[in-house]
Amino acid sequence: MQIPMKKYHIVFEKLNQFNKHIKSIYSHDQLFVITDENVFSHYENKVKKALSDFNVSFTVIPPGEKSKAFDMYLHVISDLIAKGLKREHMIVALGGGVVGDLAGFVAASIYRGVPFIQIPTTLLSMVDSSIGGKTGIDLPEGKNLVGAFYSPKIVLIDMDFLQTLSPREYRNGIAEVIKAGLIGNPTLYAQVRRPIELNSMHLKAAINVKKALVDSDPFDKKERMFLNFGHTFGHAIEKHFNYERFKHGEAISYGMIIAIEIGNKLNITPASLYDEVKGTLSSWQLISDPVMTKDRFVTDILTDKKNTADGFHFILLEAIGKPVIKILQKDDIL
Ligand code: ADP
Ligand code: ZN
Repeated sequence: MQIPMKKYHIVFEKLNQFNKHIKSIYSHDQLFVITDENVFSHYENKVKKALSDFNVSFTVIPPGEKSKAFDMYLHVISDLIAKGLKREHMIVALGGGVVGDLAGFVAASIYRGVPFIQIPTTLLSMVDSSIGGKTGIDLPEGKNLVGAFYSPKIVLIDMDFLQTLSPREYRNGIAEVIKAGLIGNPTLYAQVRRPIELNSMHLKAAINVKKALVDSDPFDKKERMFLNFGHTFGHAIEKHFNYERFKHGEAISYGMIIAIEIGNKLNITPASLYDEVKGTLSSWQLISDPVMTKDRFVTDILTDKKNTADGFHFILLEAIGKPVIKILQKDDIL
């Protein structure tokens, strides 16, 4: 039996309105914000002012994926206990995917779970990582190997946070918006196929693609796998270059191109989609020529333990908005 995930709200609102939303779901006066140094330096004062009805404490971690680690998890937990966190108190994850994943896992596990709120500050976290209830940390053996499904009480999104985001970080999030369009919303895809300034409608459309798949498959056994479009090769590419050369959005952009290349080879994906999607990803500067092809990473994929048992699940496109799960064997991708 599966336990349905609790539903929660994703609210688009200005930061100065966050007070009232938090009050509507939380009756204590202390908030324990977890954030990283960059976000803290940009937003400490604004957040304190916006949440002035609360007594706000900050736990600040160094930025970057290296913070999604067990020692940082322990550090944050000790800091929260030292600051007086009790089980009924609220944790606030203020930041990108790193902060969200780590703070979410802290919230899921400290005192066997305290409530938490997500305030995503990167485009990637607004459209992707803050939605769906996955939290966790990395181990030396690999990424996201320890974690929990644990949903926030509310996700509060103010797109003004994006004004201070670097262009490369911004584009990193666009890759997931394009992916959402490709797997679940052809209209969204058509709107973002050339660079434009995104508005809340685009973000909501991308979030809805993810939410619909997550709600129908909260524990990631079936439909949710569509979200992995571009991610099999994307993850292999990130890892191949030690997570240094490519950001997640860039790696999955190449991964999407490779998934289309394989779909073309198996006569599942129309040939014209290759140039179409390549044009989109190039115009957003997510990929550049010469585009990497599957051959360079096939060995990484085939030697990845989780992929070899009975072939591996691979997401291909029959058309824009029509993903399919295929179990592929070695020969299918060679
Ligand atoms: P993601 O997984 O969402 O890409 P990270 O948590 O790794 O995000 O954040 C990416 C980088 O952007 C980090 O260096 C982080 O400190 C920085 N960052 C996050 N939000 C903002 C913001 N609103 N303005 C400026 N920098 C930010
Ligand atoms: Zn992704």
